[in-house]
Amino acid sequence: METTEPRTDMPPQYDPRATEAKWYAIWLERGLFHSEPTGSVLEPFCIVMPPPNVTGVLHIGHAFTFTLQDVLTRRARMQGFEALWLPGTDHAGIATQVVVERELAREGLDRREMGRDAFLERVWQWKERYGGRIVEQVQALGSSCDWDRLRFTMDEGLSRAVRVAFVRMFDDGLIYRGERIINWCPRDRTALSDSEVEHEEVDGELVTFRYELSDGGGHVNVATTRVETMLGDTGIAVHPSDERYAALVGATVRHPFDGRDLPVVADAAVDPSFGTGAVKVTPAHDPNDFEIAERTGLPRLNILNADATVADTAPEEFRGLDRYEARKRVTERLRDLGLVIAEERPFRHAVGHCYRCHSEIEPWLSGKQWFVAVDRLRAPAIEASEDGRIRFHPERWRNAYLEWLRGLRDWNISRQLWWGHRIPVWYCPNGHEFASIEDPTECPECGAGDLEQDPDVLDTWFSSQLWPFSTLGWPDETPELDFYYPTTVLVTGYEILYLWVARMIMSGMYLVGDVPFRNVLIHGLVRDAQGRKMSKSLGNVIDPLDMIQEYGADALRYALARMAGPEQQNLPLSTEGIEAARNFANKIWNGARQVLAAYAPREDGEPHLPSPGDWTLTERWVLARHQACLDEVNAAMDAYRFDEAAQTLHRFFWSELCDWGLEAEKRRRATGTDPERHRASEVLAWVLERTLRLLHPFMPFVTEEVWQRFGGERSAAGVESIVVAAWPEPHPEHQDSDAEEEFDFVRELVANVRGIRGIIGPGRYLLVVGDRLEQELEPLREAVERLGGAALAPLGEADPTGRYVRLSVSGREARLKIPEGFEPTGAVSLRRKRLEGTRSKLEASERKLAGESFLSRAAPEAVEKERRKREDLAAEAAVLEDQIGLLESLGG
Ligand SMILES: [Zn+2]
Ligand SMILES: [Zn+2]
Repeated sequence: METTEPRTDMPPQYDPRATEAKWYAIWLERGLFHSEPTGSVLEPFCIVMPPPNVTGVLHIGHAFTFTLQDVLTRRARMQGFEALWLPGTDHAGIATQVVVERELAREGLDRREMGRDAFLERVWQWKERYGGRIVEQVQALGSSCDWDRLRFTMDEGLSRAVRVAFVRMFDDGLIYRGERIINWCPRDRTALSDSEVEHEEVDGELVTFRYELSDGGGHVNVATTRVETMLGDTGIAVHPSDERYAALVGATVRHPFDGRDLPVVADAAVDPSFGTGAVKVTPAHDPNDFEIAERTGLPRLNILNADATVADTAPEEFRGLDRYEARKRVTERLRDLGLVIAEERPFRHAVGHCYRCHSEIEPWLSGKQWFVAVDRLRAPAIEASEDGRIRFHPERWRNAYLEWLRGLRDWNISRQLWWGHRIPVWYCPNGHEFASIEDPTECPECGAGDLEQDPDVLDTWFSSQLWPFSTLGWPDETPELDFYYPTTVLVTGYEILYLWVARMIMSGMYLVGDVPFRNVLIHGLVRDAQGRKMSKSLGNVIDPLDMIQEYGADALRYALARMAGPEQQNLPLSTEGIEAARNFANKIWNGARQVLAAYAPREDGEPHLPSPGDWTLTERWVLARHQACLDEVNAAMDAYRFDEAAQTLHRFFWSELCDWGLEAEKRRRATGTDPERHRASEVLAWVLERTLRLLHPFMPFVTEEVWQRFGGERSAAGVESIVVAAWPEPHPEHQDSDAEEEFDFVRELVANVRGIRGIIGPGRYLLVVGDRLEQELEPLREAVERLGGAALAPLGEADPTGRYVRLSVSGREARLKIPEGFEPTGAVSLRRKRLEGTRSKLEASERKLAGESFLSRAAPEAVEKERRKREDLAAEAAVLEDQIGLLESLGG
């Protein structure tokens, strides 16, 4: 008879599919995500979205970082900031060019045959057709970006920003062209910056071989992991104070294959304690050798083609061989000549790999490349981080970033691609060279009209380093730039801290004169449940779009946010975690169905709080817990502890509001007249509405769907959506330690009774308490009896022949009379048997963990798993022992 009829307009299952697309369209249509600079009216809050590649498909890493950015933006918007989350996409030089080239290949076309202009036209067509996909996917996640301000790194404004930045740096002497050893990807056939090279250990080889002195009077031994580069050796270097070789400096050795004489030179960069103390010098294929050659005057000999085959500069027998083939052939020939001293294979050492295609990088002299000189850019960037104008969260990243910045070398910005910002430098037939913002028609120095533009394009990071201000209108002095810059916080993964974050800081300081953002939030990486990287080959990829389809965006967002603590480097995600989050969305829906069952929404939709004198103990407790929840959520979110905020909200909503608050007030909300029932729902409804607002940044859709049920005329009160509702203000006066103490006592008492019932089984229980306690429990008698499953009885009714369990809760005593006729022997023997099984498993696990062979051979994850198993078994055994103790105390 105590049924509260749930709201008839709310079906028992929450259906995200019926909700999410609907609300997103409404939010867009009402322009709720749009932001305008308000001058001094409101405080700005701004996040620029790290632009995903325009070729990209939303992956779980995107879903994670965008969730965090949206949580921060939505909360700031509700807090009354003029909040802007500025979205965009990146043209992604290599990635996009490769995608379109592949498409062409299927049609039997080749970009080189098409020519540059026709190819670029194809890329733009591709971008128009598919570039919107990633945007739609970001929207499906519920992201509250200002789409009116969507930018693309190659759009007109941003392209102009790139030119202005380049020309300013060029004219300022910060950009120069030079011959340097660059990182060359032979597969993508482009240069890469140092940060785009991933260093990985590989099983290679170390070959030590001998160069005979030209005069036949001895030899010098050298060692190398890339023996094929000896085809390009032009000298031998030793340390100037290395006495072993002092007599050889100035002599020459003879190249065994082509008879060239290579001078022995002295250079302080050689480490005399390493290897033989003598090094072969290959200036065109090693950055250190290049510098030695610069200082000692050794010539450069480039023996590789762009695809890493041996060039025609090498002896004929090696020409055209692939680098790995050449490596074998050179060793064989050296062996034949009796020059090999030692071969170590496998030899484990670090080799640079291309971050895109994973080919081994070839340090290579590829002709002239453009560089940014970093010396003058670096100092202000370091200063801004040291004096706290930029704060890193967690702070330890600051040191990593500073260390990297201090060791930074000049940045190679030219790429041998067609898709990208073409370098705005022109050459005239008379040898003049100049940079220009506008396409020039004649040489400013000699007036010649026959100009040629540099064929290379700029590194993608050159344009994305301008992102925090180019998207706000720079180089123009726009109201947006004035209002939103410096932006509030940059949210990104640690893998692009150097590639991108450091460069934005340098360019922001140099071009705008201020930091690009005040905070940098560096988050971890989403992994699979076992902590492994998600990859196609492991088959453990979680596709966010599938997850949204199946569980809803709210579930995915909540599952991601609840992992995001500042110290969490690896975030283990499983579909079970997303399922659990979906269950939480359902719980929110169902809790609301219950609360709103007897609640009559007011005309303005604003829930009303009855006066404090009318609050029941449960209501006082719920209000106090809600206030504590608000404080905890605020503190956690201010410190970017998304995990704590999400978990606090889960605990409050599920266990405090629903399991206890709603349950304890169930009878009251179910009986009496409609106004009485409405009154019994008012406090809960007030708390529910505020909790929805706290949950909204995490789960925007289900919260909106429920929130709208507080009254259809909310827009009349000036609030049309929870998106723009105010963030709940604190009510410190709701703190109530008396209510918490009393209510917690009841919770503990009920939990104790339930625990015993769980062991003994169903039946008629009697909870016998003293007079004073009975009085105290009176207001909650119905809830205690229903939730505990035991009738409350005064001491006088205790039956001396019955069997009792003594309960002691917070120093107060009660006795629980167990059902008559209960026979503990069966229950005891059942548990003894189980305990035996558990103990033998526990011993087996302990033996395993004590064994040397397991610990030394098993993978660390397997050891960890076994340790957890041991703990679980030990806990299980302890519980069984307790239960047996309890049952035995009841006597047989
Ligand atoms: Zn590559
Ligand atoms: Zn000229």
